[in-house]
Amino acid sequence: MSETALFGNYARSNIEVDHGEGVWLVGKDGRRFLDCGSGIAVNALGHCHPHLVSALQDQAAKLWHTSNLHKIPGGERLAQRLVDNTFAEKVLFVNSGAEAMEAAIKCARRYQYNNGNPDRYHIVTFEGAFHGRTIATIAAGGQAKYLEGFGPKAPGFDQTTPGDLEALKQVIGPQTAAIAIEPIQGEGGIKEMHADFLRGVRRLCDEHGILLIFDEIQTGVGRTGKLFAHQLIGVEPDLMAVAKGIGGGFPMGACLATAEAAEALAPGTHGTTFGGNPLAMAVGNAVLDVVLEDGFLEEVQAKGLSFKQKLAGLVDSHPKVFAEVRGVGLMLGIRCTVPVGDYVALARDAGLLAVPAGDNVARILPPLTISEDEISMAVERLEQAAAAMEANMVEGAAE
Ligand SMILES: *Cc1c(COP(=O)(O)O)cnc(C)c1O
Repeated sequence: MSETALFGNYARSNIEVDHGEGVWLVGKDGRRFLDCGSGIAVNALGHCHPHLVSALQDQAAKLWHTSNLHKIPGGERLAQRLVDNTFAEKVLFVNSGAEAMEAAIKCARRYQYNNGNPDRYHIVTFEGAFHGRTIATIAAGGQAKYLEGFGPKAPGFDQTTPGDLEALKQVIGPQTAAIAIEPIQGEGGIKEMHADFLRGVRRLCDEHGILLIFDEIQTGVGRTGKLFAHQLIGVEPDLMAVAKGIGGGFPMGACLATAEAAEALAPGTHGTTFGGNPLAMAVGNAVLDVVLEDGFLEEVQAKGLSFKQKLAGLVDSHPKVFAEVRGVGLMLGIRCTVPVGDYVALARDAGLLAVPAGDNVARILPPLTISEDEISMAVERLEQAAAAMEANMVEGAAE
């Protein structure tokens, strides 16, 4: 281990990053990596997209920060554009995914409270979920490995099995304020929720006066070939957490809401110092300029289909390494039969970055701007890593 003044909470790779160009991440030693991690689904338009760079530079020369005590035109515009393109009628800007989820949770609880139900503060979540790393969002995610040693789990989070409406009915009670769900679990291993299940969840919410929260922090902003993943199936939430891709690499998040839900957070009930700052708003608007361009999302769908087909071929030809391919659009995953960490390390040696997830899945989350040629190159490198893995197995068996 090299000496570092940084906390040891990350096991970092051996790449010392220098700069990025489109889908390429370049190390200080000159190594070039095809970045199919995108900073974990953040660099939706790749590295240093010229339109984003100029938006940030122009804004940097004009105004950085004012607090939310004043009107920020870029934020008004970005909120209106999100409203025009989604179920939402109101938008709250924050700085990260966890904060977007926190806002959604607080909004749902306060909504029930304002309606005369102060005891109705429980949020139902699902096994395999990931909603962030704050005290509340680790309770929402419910994973023991993230909760251990951080004191009592924040109360008011009930967990059940994804895909099982009967189990969900059992866990819903007079205490339930909201149900929070990722339409496709990201950290959990690219697990898609069935359309029928999500429709059933929406129906239960309507029957019981429960708010539906979609966590689209990873699935959002074009990743699945729609602006938001739930638009693939037409089930709409009351609240939605957005982050990652919306900033294209600039830290920002948003909580989107119906007018009725948003009304719960009256003046003074919630706030953020940095949320919605002019720099973030300039970049967020620039991201939407590109993602909402005519044909952009259709292209993501086409490229996603082609990538997935190629990955299916790869999985078929390496049954000792891979079990199956998953996902939609450019939110793809390969479930490995070998330890996913080992495979991802070999892929890195072959010049490709993927991100390990739960269920032994290697996530493939390239920039949405990836070209067909770059997709072919990515599959070649993934193939190379699979071959290296098999060679290691033979060697291991011979020893
Ligand atoms: C990344 C992620 C979060 C947390 O976002 P942060 O910006 O790291 O706080 C929450 N939910 C989902 C689905 C995510 O992918």
